[in-house]
Amino acid sequence: MSHPTAPLRAPLEIEFDYTRSLGPVLSQFMAALTERRILGARGADGRVHAPPFEYDPVSAEPPASLTEVGPEGTVVSWSWMPEPLAGQPLAEPFAWALIRLDGADTAMLHAVDAGSAAAMRTGLRVRPRWAERPAGSIRDITCFEPCDGPAGTAAEGSGGEPREVTPGMTVTPVRLHYMHTASPGETAYLRGLAEHRLLGQRCGVCEQVYVPPRGTCPADGVPTSEEVELPESGTVTTFCIVNVGYPGQKVTPPYVAAAVLLDGADIAFQHLVLGCDPAEVRMGMRVRAVWGESGSISHFAPTGDPDALYETYARCL
Ligand SMILES: [Zn+2]
Repeated sequence: MSHPTAPLRAPLEIEFDYTRSLGPVLSQFMAALTERRILGARGADGRVHAPPFEYDPVSAEPPASLTEVGPEGTVVSWSWMPEPLAGQPLAEPFAWALIRLDGADTAMLHAVDAGSAAAMRTGLRVRPRWAERPAGSIRDITCFEPCDGPAGTAAEGSGGEPREVTPGMTVTPVRLHYMHTASPGETAYLRGLAEHRLLGQRCGVCEQVYVPPRGTCPADGVPTSEEVELPESGTVTTFCIVNVGYPGQKVTPPYVAAAVLLDGADIAFQHLVLGCDPAEVRMGMRVRAVWGESGSISHFAPTGDPDALYETYARCL
């Protein structure tokens, strides 16, 4: 068991999917990948960019047409990935490489499955290993793999005129893993929660009470060390009704996320207000903490007491 004042540490994992439109050019690029074709764009200076640019770096114009490149290419630079991370293209050690596809003048980044770092080199000839089930994503190329062929020219350009491709969407999963170390004030606050106690800190200069404690007063710039235990009751100062669903959501919309000002505190914190119709939640509503199983506040619920006067929380809006 760690020392009662030792800072708490815990893994903090943030995950979300970032979804965006591919736009007209990259939609054509991704659509071609489903047909095992790789497209580039010829710029105003005659150079072929693969993947295609959305706007010409020389003329700033969108590409007039896309042209087929590769599918084989040459490694122009690489870096070995000895311990692949979750979500990377390959589970076994591989190379990240800049690959100039035949017929292109620029290089694209992708993975090369060479087996070992000793097998990687600048100038290595590679070809795509295609995914069995194309989905219109850069991952339709599983990776590149070494091949024997000499540098050639691209398959006769069948990129042709811009095709009418409905702009698609792409989903980029974002995964951030932190080891979070709580500050001394935050540690005291978290240890207090485990005992169903709400601990804040008071500034010795302005006497404002902060909960959760920050360790310093943002107004005076001085450390806050005086601990203050606060009651479980408070007032809704502002709120919003969440109507939008998202993956992994733990409460079914509609529900209320509110700024709750604990009695005796000078700063509100965000929490859920449950236990009543969302339409009933209002500024000044009196609420009380409902404890969850893990020694934390599950949510706040209405107490049924008369609303707090606006003047009592107006300074904290
Ligand atoms: Zn202060």
